[in-house]
Amino acid sequence: MFPSPGPGQEKQRSKKVYDYPKTLEEARSYKYGSWAGDPDGNEYKEGLCADEVYNSEPGPSFSQCLRKNGKGPDGLYCWQHVKKVEGS
Ligand SMILES: [Zn+2]
Repeated sequence: MFPSPGPGQEKQRSKKVYDYPKTLEEARSYKYGSWAGDPDGNEYKEGLCADEVYNSEPGPSFSQCLRKNGKGPDGLYCWQHVKKVEGS
């Protein structure tokens, strides 16, 4: 079982054990782009895909996918990333 992230626990989550938010609540509790130098990251933006994507420009970073959502668990994912979520 995956431990569910409660208040104060998000900052300890590692990219290596990243598991996809399955509900709107999980997406809202996730900090997009958080890392050691920016532990707070960014809030989930409603209506957009809940996946976290890697950006090589302007510098290595992670951020929320900016495609429109509507597919997958709770309709949280875009057409592209729903394949990653449901394909596992
Ligand atoms: Zn996406």
